[in-house]
This record gives sequence, C-alpha cells and structure tokens, in this order.
Amino acid sequence: MTETKYIFVTGGVVSSLGKGIISSSIGKLLQARGYNITIQKFDPYINIDPGTLNPYEHGECYVTVDGMETDLDLGHYERFTGIQTTRANSLTTGRIYKAVIDKERRGDYLGKTIQVIPHITDEIKRRVQLLGNKNHYDFVITEIGGTVGDIESTPFLEAIRQLKWELGKKALCVHLTYVPYLKAAQELKTKPTQHSVKELQSIGIQPDILVLRTEKHLNDNIRRKVAAFCNVDIDCVVQSEDLPSIYDVPVAMQTQGMDTAILRKMGEPIGDTPPLGPWRTFLDKLKKAKSEVHIGLVGKYDLQDAYKSIRESLSQAATYNDHKAVLTYINSEKLTKENIAEQLSGQDGIVICPGFGDRGIEGKITAIQYARENDIPTFGICLGMQMMVIEFARNVLGYSDANSREMNEKTEHNVIDIMEEQKNITNMGGTMRLGAYDCVLEKDSLSYSIYGETPIKERHRHRYEFNNMYEKEYEKNGMKCVGKNPESGLVEIVEIPALKWFIGTQFHPEYQSTVLNPHPLFLNFIKTAIENKKK
Ligand code: GLN
Repeated sequence: MTETKYIFVTGGVVSSLGKGIISSSIGKLLQARGYNITIQKFDPYINIDPGTLNPYEHGECYVTVDGMETDLDLGHYERFTGIQTTRANSLTTGRIYKAVIDKERRGDYLGKTIQVIPHITDEIKRRVQLLGNKNHYDFVITEIGGTVGDIESTPFLEAIRQLKWELGKKALCVHLTYVPYLKAAQELKTKPTQHSVKELQSIGIQPDILVLRTEKHLNDNIRRKVAAFCNVDIDCVVQSEDLPSIYDVPVAMQTQGMDTAILRKMGEPIGDTPPLGPWRTFLDKLKKAKSEVHIGLVGKYDLQDAYKSIRESLSQAATYNDHKAVLTYINSEKLTKENIAEQLSGQDGIVICPGFGDRGIEGKITAIQYARENDIPTFGICLGMQMMVIEFARNVLGYSDANSREMNEKTEHNVIDIMEEQKNITNMGGTMRLGAYDCVLEKDSLSYSIYGETPIKERHRHRYEFNNMYEKEYEKNGMKCVGKNPESGLVEIVEIPALKWFIGTQFHPEYQSTVLNPHPLFLNFIKTAIENKKK
C-alpha cells in the first residue's frame, strides 16, 4: 500500500463510550493484518496539553517518550498496539489556535483576516496528515474527543468533512453511539443513534461504520433498522456490548468483521483473518486466573482513571503471573499511625502513587514506614519514590524535618530537592523533566536482576530529584541508589536490599507496560507479592 489512509473516530449521544478503546482495537486489528498504523487524539479543549489538569478533570496524564503530556487514551493506544506515540499524536484546540496565532504574528498570513474556516480548519487538516506525510503509515487513525454537537468540536468535524471530500475512499468515519435499554419498556432504543447520525449528516459527514455501545445484545432487526435509517451498510453496523475486559474488544470487533468492513470500504484487499495468537493467549490467561493478589494503591485520588496506567500495568502483570489483581484504593489523607496496620491488612503488596503537592503525603510516609518495618513488598513511583527517601531520612537517618523542597522550601534536610535548571522556571505547563531518559543500573541490584540489562530507558514527569549530597549516608544505612542517569548522575532508582521488594523509581514505568510486553518491574513486584501472600 502506498498512500496513507485516514480513519476518523467520532462519538455521539454521550461521552465515555470508549472511543479510545475502539480506536485502539481498530489499530490492533489492522496491525495484525500487517499494516503499519498509528493513532492520534485531537481534543477540543483549549488547554495546550492536559499536563496542568487535575486528574479529577480528565484522569491520568499520560507521557510519551518524547515528553509530551497527553490524554490517557494514548496509553490505551500504546498498550493495545505496542506502538510508541509522540507529541505529534496528541493535539488540542489550544495547540491549533496557538500555532495559527503564532503564524499570524510572524506575518505568515499578511493581509488576510484570520478565521476559523479556513485557517483553523486548514491547520487541523495539516496536523491530521502530518504523521501520514512524514512517515510511511498505511493507516492513521484519528480519534476526536468530545461528542458530536459540542460547540468545541465543530471545527474538527468541518476539517473531517473537507478531508473526506478531498481524499475520497482514502478517508473513512467510524461513529460511536449509544443504544440505551429502557427497563420499563423492556426495549432497546435506537432513536439517540439516529439523532446523532443526523447531527453528523447535517455537518456534511456520512459515517461509514457505526459502532453501537450497548449493555444488551442487539439482534439483527435492530442493526438492520439502524442501517436503514442512517444510510449505512448492514455489515457496517457493529455492536460493542459490555465485556468483562477492555482487551476483549478487538476480538469482538474482529468476530463481527469490523476490520474487513473497513478494508472493503477503503478499497483494500481482504486476506485471511489473522488469528491474534499472543493476544488470545493473554485473554485466556486473564480468564483462567482465579487466585487473587491484593495490591493497595496508596494515593489521594479516589478515581479509577487517576492511576490508569498503574492499574493496567498491575493487572497485566498479575495475568502473566496467573493471578487476578484485586486493587484497593487506600486514601493517604486518612492514614495515621493508629489505623495503618488495619488499613494495610490483607494487602500482599502496596504501591505508593505519584502526585503533586503536599496533600496526603504524611499518610504516604506512614504507609511506607509500616511497610518497611514489616517487610511488605512496596513499589514507590515518582512522588512515591520521593516519599520513600523522605521516610528513610526521618526514621532511619534521624532527620525529623526531612522533606522535599516541593512541600517545604525552608527545610534544612531537603533530601528531595529542586534541580538547578528548574529553579527559575515560572511557567507550569510542559516545563518538568519529561519523557524518556537513560538510566544505568548497578549490577548487584535487585533492579538489574529484574531488568536483566543496562542501561534502560524510562519516562519521566517531575520537577524534583533525589539530593545527591545525602547519597553516602543513605548507602551506609541500607538504602541504595542503584539506578542513575549517566550524564547528570541524577538518582533514578532506590532500593533497600535487606527487604523482600522495596523499590522506588523516580520515573514512571507504568507508561511502558503493554499487553504483549508487560513491564519487568511490575511482573516481578506482583510475583513477589504472590510469594509474600503464600507466606
Ligand atoms: N511532585 C513530584 C515532582 O514534581 C513528583 C511528580 C510525580 O509523582 N509525577 O518531582
């Protein structure tokens, strides 16, 4: 295949239907047929990126290798397909407008009145095709955030309309809607879907494929009705029923021939249906795993999506260890010396979650002390690692005022400190240490035995660092700095070798764990937690 083809994924009726999962599944299925694909997300909000958003607004902020703070859907894209996304895979209205306004100031449009159409829509069209034009992708899948009918998404939809017109068969629109079940009437209702498609049609877009989200199975009559009312072929009306795992979705889509419908519509040859072997093996393991491993997530956000990648990494690791992960959120703001034993009872291991600001950090420290003194497998991630370092300083090194500069600017024992380069930064957005950096591991460490190689590369998202002035003192007292950045000497991993599993990483390993390539640290952490449980 020579020319890049474009698949757009839009949503209607309500939000949270799982456009990200559908986009990822389409990517997965095309990839399994040997196509080179990428997936990108266009979000209609005005923030430049979600980096400054509270997780309660949009869930976790996902970070790409090249250091872009993005929507959590990019995490799905990577976990499903194993591709690596970059800053070009994530766009917001804010970034589009900024690019246009910058051009206007530079004088690129001299003499012209700058308008949504054509200037904003042209910029959107350019960005949609950027990855396709630069790299040799067979398919570029573009997910449009929000729902059809939102004021914000109108310029994106107009850009899609134009692209569909210009590209003909090389562009296709998959529209995701919802078919509610009315209990009182005992009926599934297709009217919202019809309205949503009408809304799209009124903008000038005829969807090619409809994916109907539903809690109950849709029979052929319903599918036929939707097809007829919405001008869509019957084999292009696919249902996405609630399934036990999001990873069942690609298989369900394949069974209904969604990938063949896409290929047919886009004029591509339809070969044999790929068996999805390793994927099915993973699903088999997922279904067969009955024994549970209990992991406590110590953090401050009582929201599934806030620690999305960590949850997925733990679950994947449990599956590969033939166990089912039972993840319990433990609110660090409520932890005290008095209740900690009870709060952590029954957990085979704990994760100290990342975060910003001082809310809930004393609870994290309390949990770490208890876990360290009782040898509970503990995994500290980013702020979690920093809290491990602080707890050790307070309770082992004897510096009761030890803290991070982030929490207390004046503390004498700033075992976690601000980096020199970060000191004069006033802009909050996109200015942290972001993206992948090398880390060299000590050969006699647990971390090295887990990774089995050095150097490794992991993704970062933080402003503060271990203060190397204290390194010797830590080492003498039993906490080792076993991973370091080869250029800067910044500490990337600490561990306490005397304990079963006590590792803190300044980076975020969860961004690199995928379904077919689970992360070694999570695999080994879960394995140890399972062994710990048996004892
Ligand atoms: N707040 C800490 C820092 O900026 C940790 C950030 C995080 O956990 N991602 O260094």
